[in-house]
Amino acid sequence: MDTSWRQSPARRTAAALAPVAAVAAAHIVPAATWLPVVRRRFPRLAGTGHPGHVALTFDDGPDPESTPRFLDALEALGVRATFFVLGDGVLRHPSVVRETVRRGHEVALHGWSHDRPWLPGPVDDVRALLRAAGTVRELTGHDPRWYRPPYGILTSGRWAAARTAGLRPVLWTAWGRDWTADATPASVRSAVAAGLRGGGTLLLHDTDRMSAPGCWRSALGALPGIVHACHAAGLSVGPLAEHGVPGGRA
Ligand SMILES: [Zn+2]
Repeated sequence: MDTSWRQSPARRTAAALAPVAAVAAAHIVPAATWLPVVRRRFPRLAGTGHPGHVALTFDDGPDPESTPRFLDALEALGVRATFFVLGDGVLRHPSVVRETVRRGHEVALHGWSHDRPWLPGPVDDVRALLRAAGTVRELTGHDPRWYRPPYGILTSGRWAAARTAGLRPVLWTAWGRDWTADATPASVRSAVAAGLRGGGTLLLHDTDRMSAPGCWRSALGALPGIVHACHAAGLSVGPLAEHGVPGGRA
């Protein structure tokens, strides 16, 4: 007997969405759960490079308020990095991206916007990445080489889109957990120290666009200590272009 009419509207909605959720889970979960495996089995995808080098990377920018602070801090430290930008942000804040390149940093792609790929959308994936790559190329005169999908969720569609756009997917081997509201420069430094080794790729964020308001200050505050610790350990710090990982267009 069909008793669905007795269910509340919310329950009926949940029941109706169940098949959608199942498709989304099948689509996303394998990619999300393989991140630890990636570091072991696919070191280049994780961003493992030259053992004497650490790749410094920032996600989610450009941000007109916070990114310039990172550019100044990096200049004071004499270090260059790779910035994984979002295409819609590049369109809104082109001068920040121009300045990033002018200071010698590398610009890579984090996608067009920071959406979660709930359902497979291979055509949209290709369109979004090509648009983002074209926007960066038009602004900077350079083709981006690297692609890091939002949340590290590299679906088969996004993998294929990256190849179509001539980009090499790169995730990370260590992060600073700098996106949380309770992060501090000290907590970011210790999270990095726990996971970062020579040859690693470090993920930080130069904006709070996708995270707790103002949390970029924790990453910014941690930056000098992280760089000094790397140098003290005999490691150089720089962009992915100098990390010894084969690049997308290389
Ligand atoms: Zn992100």
